[in-house]
Amino acid sequence: MPNYWKIPGVPHKGWSLDDVIDIREDGQAKWETPYESCMMCGNEKIRFVHIVSHPEVDEDFRVGCVCAEKMTGDYINPERREKDLRNRASRRSNWMGKQ
Ligand SMILES: [Zn+2]
Repeated sequence: MPNYWKIPGVPHKGWSLDDVIDIREDGQAKWETPYESCMMCGNEKIRFVHIVSHPEVDEDFRVGCVCAEKMTGDYINPERREKDLRNRASRRSNWMGKQ
């Protein structure tokens, strides 16, 4: 995985956040989770994938929270949306644990 922060070719700014997804499904174990790598910095094992798009780039990028913040220049929403997903997931697993 290249680190696009260090090489030119991909814009570092001007991205917008389209979506944040939790790639772990309900009840899925850690080792079963198909973690992804950040397409921007190559960081591995991303569970919360931030999907960002740029008008000059054909492809959507799937990146981690830190890169999403830097790319969009938005230091509030990427983290907030990730937290929401995390809370939702832990509520779900608490509920399932009680059954
Ligand atoms: Zn990254």
